[in-house]
This record gives sequence, structure tokens and C-alpha cells, in this order.
Amino acid sequence: MGSRGLSEASLESRGGVLCLVEYDDDGVIDSSLRALSFARSLGESSDTALAAAIFGTVSASTLASLQSYGVSEAYEIVLEGVDAYAPLAWARALERLSESLGARAVVAAGTDRGNEVMAYVGATSGMPMVANCQRASWLNATTVGLSRQRWGGSLIEDAVLEGVPALLTVAFDGVSAEPALAPMATLVRDYRSSPSDSDLSVKVAEWKSRGGGVSLADARVVVGGGRGVGSEEGFAPLDELAGLLGAAVGVSRAVTSAGWRPHAQQVGQTGTRISPDLYLACGISGATQHLAGCRSAKHVVTINTDPDAPFLSRADYAVVGDVSVIVPALVEAIKARKSGRVGPA
Ligand SMILES: Cc1cc2nc3c(=O)[nH]c(=O)nc-3n(C[C@H](O)[C@H](O)[C@H](O)COP(=O)(O)OP(=O)(O)OC[C@H]3O[C@@H](n4cnc5c(N)ncnc54)[C@H](O)[C@@H]3O)c2cc1C
Repeated sequence: MGSRGLSEASLESRGGVLCLVEYDDDGVIDSSLRALSFARSLGESSDTALAAAIFGTVSASTLASLQSYGVSEAYEIVLEGVDAYAPLAWARALERLSESLGARAVVAAGTDRGNEVMAYVGATSGMPMVANCQRASWLNATTVGLSRQRWGGSLIEDAVLEGVPALLTVAFDGVSAEPALAPMATLVRDYRSSPSDSDLSVKVAEWKSRGGGVSLADARVVVGGGRGVGSEEGFAPLDELAGLLGAAVGVSRAVTSAGWRPHAQQVGQTGTRISPDLYLACGISGATQHLAGCRSAKHVVTINTDPDAPFLSRADYAVVGDVSVIVPALVEAIKARKSGRVGPA
């Protein structure tokens, strides 16, 4: 391990909480900020330090977030000879780092990646892993009392986890992101790991994106389509609308089951959880498993031919009408507004 950092002091994280932190071009992603808040509060319940594990390089904006969320040590993990995401190799590196720090808990965001890597850590270390946590505190040196979401958040379970390190992922919408009261001078250290061939049995070879590259989980606006859209081709106006709004396209399971859209676009209990400012749900009935994925949407507008569809009682605004009529009309109205043909610019 090498080191570079703001502080000359040795910020020992032995016995503390290690948090896997994910980032994008803008810095630490929201889900990881929530995971850091959760991990910090777990550390505070035993007065131990918070360390972060980051695969790749800590950028200036990432470092600023780590400082404001109270991280004392950040480990830039380098997997020798590997650039790609490789869940087992990530898990082995995280497990070894956790061991060398003597971490009492390892925490990650409840993202696809966070859950996948932590499940691998659980499998390789033999330790139990608990997903979708929203509160946790130490009951004694080796036991964590926690509450976690089940059934897409419709049931909250109180549980006790024995054994260290405790492996926990944080519920998508169960914790808010709260910076520490005082920023920390985060020390950044290098951590190198050499994965074996078997550690690389699964790795991402190529990324392909549909829907204009806007990430569904992070989108501020989501245009959703259900069985009421009628067909794969029926999604063309929804794609166009999403393009005009800078939105991501999300779908119901009826749509992915029909093969109209990939599972990566599914919203719901067994799909992606979304928390946009606006969710425009078109031809979706509003089954509980779908609603479990969009409970955090700030505003919901639904379009449905059935005035009694369950989604209407969750919506802020509802249009009772045919998607194949309403959405193209909406597209035309937005285009007209954008070109200055009607109304103020
Ligand atoms: C274990 C489990 C997990 C599940 N996980 C998920 C999940 O993650 N996500 C998910 O979405 N579902 C999930 N489901 C499935 C879920 O229960 C529903 O079956 C599914 O959400 C229904 O999709 P839908 O609303 O598109 O279809 P439907 O229920 O068939 O509803 C179609 C809606 O479109 C309306 N409509 C029809 N034609 C038009 C039109 N021309 N214009 C406007 N409206 C129209 C209808 O009135 C209706 O309300 C899960 C189910 C189980 C058992």
C-alpha cells in the first residue's frame, strides 16, 4: 500500500467500517453517498473509523465527497492487468482489504453492482450478507442489530446479524445522504490486488446502452411503458418523448416478459428502483411489484384507458386515454413548443 493525502497523521481504520464507493464522471453516485451515511452512522455506534474502497482513481470531486462524508482513509484499488468490471475479482480484493484493515463491517450501496460484489464477498468469505438495510447499530463487538426492507420495501424486518465482518448493502430509498457534521482530511492510499484467472471467470467485455445513455436509476425524468403500449414498435413515440425530455425509458415486467424491451429497463421489485423528479407511466396498471420500484418518484403522471387502474391512485395527475394517441400528441406539442410555434419559449 502506498499513500498520498491531505493529512500527515496516520488515520487508522483498523476495526472500523469499510464502504465500497461507486462513482461516475460527476463523482460519487447518490446511492454510494447514502451508503457512506449509513456506514458512518454504524461506525459512530462503536466509535470507529470509516474507510472507503474505490476501484480506480479518486478524482477531485470524489475526494471532496469522501471528505465531507467523514471518510478517514480511501483505498484506490488497482486490479493488476484488469480494467473491466469483474465481480469476483472485485470481491476478492474487497475481502482482502477488509481483512488487512480488520474491518468489523463492509458496506455497499444496494445497486446492482454493490449487491453483486457483496454477494460474492459473502460466498467467498463464508460470512452472511444482508441486503436492503436501512438502519444498523452494534449490539456488542460482533453483533449488529439492523432493520431492512423486504418485499420491495412493503415489509420492514428487524434482524440480528452475528459475526464480523458484517456484510451489508443499503436499501435504495431507505437512507438519506447526509454529510458529516465536520469534514475529514481523507488520506488516500493505493491498494494493489492480483486476480487469478479464476477470479476473472466473469468480467464485462463490452457496454451497450439503449435509451440515449441516460441511466434509469439516476434519471431525473423517466418515461415508463407497460403492456398498454401494445407492441415493441409501439415504444417509438415513448423513445421520442424520452429523447425530447432527456429522460430514460423504463418498462413493466409485462413488457420485458414479452421481449419488447430488455430486463435492464424494467422498473420494480425485480427490476431497477427509480427516484426521478417525474415518472410518466404510460399503459402501466400499477401492480404492487411495479410500484415498489417507483415509490421514491417525486411526481407521477399516468396515462391509462382504465380510470380504475391502481396507478391512478398513486399518480399526481392522470390522463384517461389511449397511449397511442396521447404520447404522439405530447411529442408534437413539445416539438412545437421547442420550435417556438406555440406559447412562450
Ligand atoms: C415475484 C414477482 C415480481 C414482479 N416484479 C415486477 C417488477 O419488478 N416490475 C413490474 O413491472 N412487474 C413485476 N411483476 C409483475 C406485476 O405483478 C404485473 O404483472 C406487471 O407489472 C404488469 O405490467 P403492466 O402494468 O404493464 O401490464 P398490465 O397489468 O396488463 O396492465 C396494462 C395496463 O395498460 C392499460 N392499457 C391497455 N391499453 C392501453 C392503451 N392503449 N392506452 C393506455 N393504457 C392502456 C390497461 O388498462 C392496464 O392498466 C412481478 C410479479 C411477481 C409475481
